[in-house]
Parts: sequence; structure tokens; C-alpha cells
Amino acid sequence: MAKKDYHNYIDGRWVPARSGKTFENTDPASGEYLGTYPRSSPEDIEQAVDASVKAYDSWRKTPAPHRANILARAAEALDRKKDEVARSMTREMGKVLKEARGDVQEGIDMLQYSAGEGRRLFGHVTPSELPRKLALAQRVPVGVVAAITPWNFPLAIPTWKLGPALVAGNTVVFKPSQYTPESAYHLAKALEEAGLPPGVMNLVYGPGNEAGTPLIEHPRVDMVSFTGSSAVGQGIGQRCAHLGKRYHLEMGGKNAIIILEDADIDLALSYIIWSAFGTSGQRCTAASRIIVHKAVIWEVTERVVEATRKLRLGHGLEPETDVGPVVNAEQLEKVQRYVKIGIDEGAKVLCGGQRATEGALSKGYFFQPTIFGDVKPKMRIAQEEIFGPATAILEISSVEEAVAVNNDTPYGLVTGIFTRDINKALAALEDLSTGIVYINAGTIGAEVHLPFGGTRGTGNGHREAGLAALEVYTEWKSVYLDYSGTLQKAQKIE
Ligand code: NAD
Repeated sequence: MAKKDYHNYIDGRWVPARSGKTFENTDPASGEYLGTYPRSSPEDIEQAVDASVKAYDSWRKTPAPHRANILARAAEALDRKKDEVARSMTREMGKVLKEARGDVQEGIDMLQYSAGEGRRLFGHVTPSELPRKLALAQRVPVGVVAAITPWNFPLAIPTWKLGPALVAGNTVVFKPSQYTPESAYHLAKALEEAGLPPGVMNLVYGPGNEAGTPLIEHPRVDMVSFTGSSAVGQGIGQRCAHLGKRYHLEMGGKNAIIILEDADIDLALSYIIWSAFGTSGQRCTAASRIIVHKAVIWEVTERVVEATRKLRLGHGLEPETDVGPVVNAEQLEKVQRYVKIGIDEGAKVLCGGQRATEGALSKGYFFQPTIFGDVKPKMRIAQEEIFGPATAILEISSVEEAVAVNNDTPYGLVTGIFTRDINKALAALEDLSTGIVYINAGTIGAEVHLPFGGTRGTGNGHREAGLAALEVYTEWKSVYLDYSGTLQKAQKIE
């Protein structure tokens, strides 16, 4: 492919990195070159933050319904290019095309949903304890937001941040993953086409330690919203706490599907395959533990293994492909490492367990869909996030035990539970300590108008999406309007 140069988007202009340094984007399924992007350094970050600071005052004073109209137009622009954007996403990070279309659709949905907030952004009006006094609380923007995002949902996750941040009146510097720069380009292009004023959203490319660190540390960045690995997120949280910045972290998961003895096994099986191996197991919501009642564990294991062996690996653009590559060599090595860890701990590899290298697969980062059996809850493969096409089957003998095993990991993102007994389902719902619970469905399928996020090590207590996202991207301003014309003191002071 001929050289294709992309640029940062700063202050409404597409510009190269000041240093002239670049990095290349490649297809993880084939190694094919896709484009060249700026490798931003602190100078570029300075320029982007500067533009955001400059644009902030006028953007926060733009009426929210007008800000919303721009987001709605950006959603339309993306919708017009949905297939093109999805194809470029599949090429740059590997997920199969139908899932890439879903990712773009989620971005469209989030922009539309955020646009709706432009005519709400509700605060509250409440009685005052004093006469002739109006008391109300309104939402105001935080300021300049740094949005740092991963590669696994390269369109949807940025919109989870940009949608609510922008409609609430913040300006943004967006640093996407270096593994999915083209998806970020399409999002920025849609916002530009929609008429977003210069400087309101600035896009800077580059690796985390080069472009991300100076962005987080920049004194005029008011808030950091990060989605990615726990190791990086915790470091960012510590840094932000030290610098006195507001921060929002969405990190890893170790999600489980629970199958009780009375479950609809056919239904559960189709959800296991979708939840464990969709996006090659690289969803933060991927089911990496299958917790099964002993009465049905043989049937479930046999049938899951049989279905997994039938999955076809290949390029995500090929219609017959079920599972694409993992995103890069590092991710491939990580899955390989965990297979060894699992075997050393005493687990059995029931299928997969190796890199896939037949024919054209040898050119990409393909790993055979893998299932571990004989897994105990405290094994590392049952506790740590692998983030690849690998899942572990664990045996339990009661719903209470299933809930205890589910809850006993450092993460708390999603659980799916399968049972035909409504009492058991609702009792489990009460005790499952994850941020998202599905009953008779797998672990993936979140909708943009509900809060998204997890407990324990998955996050720091905030949520993306839904109304909950507004808590992240707004401050509260309490207003007391005294129309008594007299000196009035609160708290019964005479
Ligand atoms: P990552 O932590 O390696 O990178 C995430 C982003 O942070 C990237 O843009 C990266 O360039 C940047 N970054 C890396 N080091 C940085 C640093 N020192 N300073 C500033 N920025 C830095 O994660 P990843 O591999 O891109 O994504 C996979 C991870 O994301 C998984 O752990 C997954 O569970 C998690 N994830 C979580 C959610 C959620 O909502 N909880 C959603 C999707 C993905």
C-alpha cells in the first residue's frame, strides 16, 4: 500500500507532530501497512491543551442544545460512513466485521444519547430553609478533559467519553490507543464535519508513555478519563491524586458466566461462545470464567469444547471468520504465557492452547480459542485478566458457592447467570458484587443509556454511559437566590 499520512487534529487543523516523528499502523491479521501517524511529544500536547483552554470559555457558554446539535450531526456523519469505518476498524485491530459494525453503531448511539442530554442536563430546585429564598443546584463543566482510550472498542469507548464531556460543555484532548489510530481519525472527522468549533476537541496520537504522560501531567488539564489496563490505570490514578486532579478510571475485568443445574443449556452455550470468544476474548466484558453446577458440568464442558473447536479463525473481513487475531505480538505472548501458567497450576487445556499458524494465519497474531478445565478459583488463570481467546471452567455445587466464586476476584465488571428459577436468579442478583449483571444472557451487550463500569479493581467508583456519566464530566454549582432583601442567617442563627 502507498504511504498514507495522518495528522493530529489541533485547534481545528490537521497537523504533523512538531518533531516530525511518526509511527505506523498495521493489520494484526496480515502485517499489512495501513498508515503513518504522528508520534506526539510534550510540544504537541502543549499545543493541544492550549487550544482546549482557549476554546473552553466560548464552548461552555454555548447553549447546551446547540452543543447537542453538533453531536447529533456527528452521529449522522458516522452513520453515513458506518461500513467504511467498520472496515478500517477490522483492519487495524482485528475484530470481525459484524462486531466492528456493532462498535461503530454503539458510537453512533452514544453520540445521539449524549445529544439528547443537551435538552436535559437536569439539576434540581429544592426548598430553602429560609423564606423568600430560591435554592437550586446546576451542573457545570469541569474544564479541559484528557480522554485516554484503549484499542478494543476504538470507536465506542471514545464516544462514551467525548459524548457526555462535550455536551456538558467541557473541551477535550483525546489520546487514542496507538493500535487504533484510524478509528479515532474517523471520529474526529465526524465531529469536524458536524461543525465542532476549533479547539473544542483535539486529537493527539502516540504511545502512552510519550503522548499520554505529558497530557495527564499538564497543569491545565482539569480531569483525566482513562479506560485501559489496571496496571496503567492505577499508575494514572496515583499520579492524578498527587497532582490534585479529578480522574475517572475504567480498567480490567474477570467476568463470569454462571450456569446453574436448571439452566437452558442450549441458550447458555451460545452465549458462552459469543461472550468468551467475541473480539477474540479482548472485550473488557469477555467471559473468562464459566462457573458451572456439578450436575451439568460434563455436558456443558463437552459441548463448549465441541463448539469451540468448530470456530473458524481468519481475517475479520472474511465473512466466514468467527474469530480474528489478537491485537499485537504482546497480547499473543500474554495469552501464551497464561496457558503455561494454567498448566503449571494443574489446569487442563481442553482445546486450543497454541498459536494458530496454518496457511495465511502465520502472517498474523492468531491464537487458537482455548478452554481450561480442572480450574480452581484461586488459580491465577481464574483470578487475572488474560484478555485473549481463553476461558476457564470452574465447578460449583450451589448458587451460593457460584456467587462466592464469582465475587472472589480483584475485579467486578460483569456476571451472566443462567437459571430457570426466578427465586435463585433474584437472590443471586442481590449478592453478586459486579457492576453489571445479566440474567439468562452472556456477559456482553451493554446499552449506552445504562451505567457501565465495575466494582473493586475494575474502576474507581465512577460509571461511563447513561446518566451516571454526567457525574464524571460535571461539577455541581449550588445557587442560593435571596429575594427577601433582609439579612437572613441559616442554621437557626439569630
Ligand atoms: P493500556 O492500559 O495499555 O492502554 C490504554 C491507553 O492508555 C492507551 O491509549 C495507551 O496508549 C495509554 N497509556 C499507556 N500507558 C500510559 C501512560 N503511562 N500514561 C498515559 N497513558 C498511557 O490498555 P489497552 O491494552 O489499550 O486496553 C486493554 C485493557 O483495557 C484491558 O485491561 C481491558 O480490560 C481494559 N478495558 C476496560 C474497559 C472498561 O470499561 N472497564 C473497557 C475496555 C477495555
